[in-house]
Amino acid sequence: MLTCELENHLQTHCKQNIRLTINDNRSTMLSVRWEESCTKISLHRIFLLAPKNVILALADSILEKQTTVASTVKAFIQESLEGIDYSSKIDPLDLSHQGEIHNLKIFYDELNGEYFNNVLNLQISWFGDSNNRNKSKVSFGLYHDALRLIKINRIMDTPTFPSYVVRFIIYHEMLHFICPPFVDEKGIHRIHHREFKAREKEFKEFSLAKKWIQQHRHNLFIPQVA
Ligand SMILES: [Zn+2]
Repeated sequence: MLTCELENHLQTHCKQNIRLTINDNRSTMLSVRWEESCTKISLHRIFLLAPKNVILALADSILEKQTTVASTVKAFIQESLEGIDYSSKIDPLDLSHQGEIHNLKIFYDELNGEYFNNVLNLQISWFGDSNNRNKSKVSFGLYHDALRLIKINRIMDTPTFPSYVVRFIIYHEMLHFICPPFVDEKGIHRIHHREFKAREKEFKEFSLAKKWIQQHRHNLFIPQVA
């Protein structure tokens, strides 16, 4: 469905002036602002693929000015986020485990045994460039759920980073598989939720790793000088 078609559907059903924007924001999947001249709705791209009953439930909640998300809509968001397992599409040759200093696969296997009874079957790889420190904000690690892939930033592949910090970042990304995000009753996509944070603290060097990151944060990234 096109954005304008979806806007028309909602407009017809809600009998009010609607301005719809589509976003790719994974934390706020939908937001509604009732203004005098029009109702402003922002929806995640997944709603362009939503079945009719979901659109109708959404329209009803807009019409009734509900502040919580209907269960049909919530279930749809949840299912869409879980996505499909595309891990078979990864070419193992594209994965890089051995860095200059740290080997990600060795750390991953150790963590899988120590904390997860070896049940996780995820892929891991370095990404980026070890010298790329000219950004003010860089992610140490990422987790791509559809690919079941953990990516660790190569800036950590230096002697500066203690191995317990690299292991902590890998552990954090592994938890994203174990404690998946969910959509709460307000439609907010909860990623580092309470259960996630509790599990994160189970990492043996949790305090040490957090402290190290806190102390070195300012030295890790050099602001770009033109
Ligand atoms: Zn995270």
